[in-house]
Amino acid sequence: MWSGVAVPLAVPDNDPEQEALVVAQDHAWPPFAWEDDSGQPRGLLVELWQQVGEALGRPVRFHLSDWPESLRAVDDGVAHVHGGLLVTPEREGFLSFGESLLPLSTTIFVPSTMPVLSVEDLENESVGVVRGSREARFLIDEHPGLLHESYENNAAMVRAAVRGDIQVFVADYPVAMFLLGREGANLDFRPLGLLYQEPLRFAVRQGDEELLSALNAAVRGLPQGELDRLSQRWLHSERIEVFPTLPVVAAGAGLLFLLLLFLILTLQRQRRVLRSSVQARTQELEAARKAQEASLRYFQQLTASVPGVLFCYRLNLESGKHCYPFISRRVKDVLGLDPDELRRDASPVFDLAHPDDREAGLKSIMESAQNNSSWHYELRFRMPDGEWRWFEALSVPARQEGDQVEWFGHFTEIQGHKDLEQALREREEQYRLIVENANDIIYTLTPGGLFLYVSPNWKAMMGHDPDSLVGRSFEPFVHKEDVQQCHDFLRRVVATGEPQSGVEFRAYRMDGTFRWFTSNAAPILDERGNVSAYLGIARDITNKKQRDENADFQFRFQHLIAEISSDLVNFPFGSADPKLDYILRRIGEFFQLDRTYLFLLADEGRHMRNTHEWCAEGVNSVITDMADVSVMQMEWSYHQISAMREKGQILLVDDVDALPEPQASNEKVLLKGQGVRSMFCVPVATQGEVIGFWGADSLIQREWPREYSNLLIVVANLISGVLDRSRLEEDLVNLSVTDPLSGVYNRRYTMERLEERLDEARRGGRNIAVAMVDIDHFKRLNDSHGHIAGDGVLREFSAILCENVRSFDVVGRFGGEEFLIVFADASLKAAASVTERILERVRSTAFQGPNGELHMTASAGIASSEELDPGSLQVDSLVGLADDRLYKAKRAGRDCLVAE
Ligand code: GH3
Ligand code: MG
Ligand code: MG
Repeated sequence: MWSGVAVPLAVPDNDPEQEALVVAQDHAWPPFAWEDDSGQPRGLLVELWQQVGEALGRPVRFHLSDWPESLRAVDDGVAHVHGGLLVTPEREGFLSFGESLLPLSTTIFVPSTMPVLSVEDLENESVGVVRGSREARFLIDEHPGLLHESYENNAAMVRAAVRGDIQVFVADYPVAMFLLGREGANLDFRPLGLLYQEPLRFAVRQGDEELLSALNAAVRGLPQGELDRLSQRWLHSERIEVFPTLPVVAAGAGLLFLLLLFLILTLQRQRRVLRSSVQARTQELEAARKAQEASLRYFQQLTASVPGVLFCYRLNLESGKHCYPFISRRVKDVLGLDPDELRRDASPVFDLAHPDDREAGLKSIMESAQNNSSWHYELRFRMPDGEWRWFEALSVPARQEGDQVEWFGHFTEIQGHKDLEQALREREEQYRLIVENANDIIYTLTPGGLFLYVSPNWKAMMGHDPDSLVGRSFEPFVHKEDVQQCHDFLRRVVATGEPQSGVEFRAYRMDGTFRWFTSNAAPILDERGNVSAYLGIARDITNKKQRDENADFQFRFQHLIAEISSDLVNFPFGSADPKLDYILRRIGEFFQLDRTYLFLLADEGRHMRNTHEWCAEGVNSVITDMADVSVMQMEWSYHQISAMREKGQILLVDDVDALPEPQASNEKVLLKGQGVRSMFCVPVATQGEVIGFWGADSLIQREWPREYSNLLIVVANLISGVLDRSRLEEDLVNLSVTDPLSGVYNRRYTMERLEERLDEARRGGRNIAVAMVDIDHFKRLNDSHGHIAGDGVLREFSAILCENVRSFDVVGRFGGEEFLIVFADASLKAAASVTERILERVRSTAFQGPNGELHMTASAGIASSEELDPGSLQVDSLVGLADDRLYKAKRAGRDCLVAE
């Protein structure tokens, strides 16, 4: 690369290997530089640089091309020096300018015959300019009212003017004059005014200070007057001719001569006026140019330091041609594109855009142009390394003349934002997935308890549309017994400022049922640290709650059964009834029933007897109505009882009203009469045979949980255990000899003994006497003092009997309060006297009553074997005789004995 090579300038003359100094210059800029017909470089600057080369002792080679290329040649290092050009801020961006070579005036030319005096008079006139030239830029800035007609170079433009294509054109004065001369038309055009005058300088690539100072020295060292000589030789005149050379008409007529003289004088005066005005304007323009240069310098520096790429984008809406008249040099670093190239054509930028963004981008540009609205667009560009990166373009359109629109703006890389945006989107998506797929309900509440957000799964779990909850209080959705503790819970979050957990509450579903939830909640704080909302996560714990409740219920039930069972361990004789009553009461209370009962079946299920009953407080007893029920009148019941007997089936009736008609019509009347709405019956079996059922009534309608069945069977087993034991008790009673209450012999034993004694009497001729003794008005005693008192009296009475007979006499309880004494080997008389003594003792005994002493009497009937024929001497006849006499004693007024 050129830039890397140090150009040895202070070289000794004798170095034959001296490298040629390459001078870049426009190839069609006569008289300064151009290529003649044989392709040789010619012109003022060619000669000048040849002299500079000689002064440096270095060969000179010319690189002639069009203007932009000549500039690029220096920038790219293809040429060492640009031979002559004007300074512009843009060029200062990449070139270092050297000494002034000569002043260069730029003028505006009009046809000599055009009657205009200043540039301002050219309003709406088409002005020829060289495309991309310094003068074109100047016209845009200073005379925006003028229309441009662009040409490739000066020669083409002047030819067009001579042809008459255009009337007015702008060019460097010497250049225009040279070309007009060449076309033989220097009299046809005159300069209307000086646009500006600037020194023509040379330039090297920016930063090549060593070369610059060497060339400056060489230019300064040229022989005195050499530059003037060259100017004289190549430039016909330095003066600005504003005096039109009018065609000289050979005039013979004096009038015409006078007229011409007058015209000349007038124009000379005009020329003086114009010259002074041109001078004033030149000064003004110089000041303006300097100010503009300064601001452009600032602009250059600013564009270099802003992060993005600044641009002015121009689009011709009709032709579709577009370019960047200005684009900051940074575009080279950012997109790897050459700003000079983009000045001509914007396409390389669009070529780098991502295919997916390009079409829409162009569309948005057109929209911006149509609506005159700012253009804001995000698109991807391919980087020099092949990677795609996101950019944001922002610009404002301004319509130029015709179909031309220019946008002023910038584009900046936003890949970082895009990456962040993408990361954020992914995170949001993750959170959304978590929230939407969680089994838990996620919600936010205002401090006042209004829903701000409810996760979508509420709909599936509770039925309501989550959006319909937003802005509403949570209260109506929570069971009213739980609302207070929810408020307490939220207050705890505020008080501690910490997340809280563990509140449990019931929430209503849309169908009116409720589910159990547990929730935690965390405070959301505002910038002042106050709670601005609660964030909560609620979990459905209904199933767990039910399991807990079930487990609790099971536990309590087992506890109850254990308690009842331990009570049954203590099971004295005769206590079956109270035990059964006890079981029915405990079960009734536990299940909150209104009535529990036990029925025993008879006659193969054709009859049933209500033997035991418990009624809740305020519920009336029906046991007497049900003491003996004939099932045959109730078809449905008979079937149910058969199913119980045959299959051990449990009967659960949730709604008595729903019993089938007509089969159950009688049952319905009966049950409704007792206020029963729901009921159940559970078969009770002993020794493998269903002997009855226990059951319950509810006076309110209830649905019996089917899982209760096993528990009801457990109760049935308890009852059957009690029944089993009472049956055993009966058996035992049958097997024993004594009466458990009174302690005297029981009836069976007494009768057996009597039989034996009668045998002996029949064989041995000994007399046997029997006394039937019965307590008087014992029923009254029971009625007025109770059975317990009655039992006590029975025991004392028995003791009196035993104390007053001989050891070989037998005292037995015949039944109730009736006793039989068997006197062995005793006459009727002897037996009567003993019995009389007993009645006396009873009369005089103070029996124990619950409220003090009791006085009792008894009556007796006595019979002896001697009174009966040996043939008819039987147990029954003897006892019957005694019984008859007891009856007589009663009729005789009681408290006496009858012995005949
Ligand atoms: P009378 O003078 O005619 O004999 O009248 P009474 O009331 O004694 O006779 P009744 O036959 O009318 O009544 C007998 C009562 O005895 C009825 C029954 O309740 C009672 N009784 C029967 N066995 C027992 C028992 O073991 N204990 C108690 N406390 N009472 C019994
Ligand atoms: Mg009696
Ligand atoms: Mg009696």
